[in-house]
Amino acid sequence: MSCYYLSHQDKEKVLYNLHSSLLAGHFEIKKIIEKAIERYYWFYIGKDIKEYIQSCDSCQKFGKLQKIQLIQSIPVVQPFYQIGIDYVDPLNPTPTSVIFI
Ligand SMILES: [Zn+2]
Repeated sequence: MSCYYLSHQDKEKVLYNLHSSLLAGHFEIKKIIEKAIERYYWFYIGKDIKEYIQSCDSCQKFGKLQKIQLIQSIPVVQPFYQIGIDYVDPLNPTPTSVIFI
């Protein structure tokens, strides 16, 4: 087993990847600690994870994940009653300077 020093910035990157990245899923403290100690250890790792998650903006706004989230159908009232738009940004500008989809 190898042992490497993790700077404060490295720890932030680890916490981001374990909790906040697109692939992480914003799981609760206990789950993130379990995932973290599979590969990392530093003093106060649990405290750092707890503080990181408690300061996570998305978790504060939307709460913790529900174990089962059923898909809710949208009632159809009339054509074009409700329109949804998904967009992605920022992207590399196109030749015409478009950066949104
Ligand atoms: Zn979160």
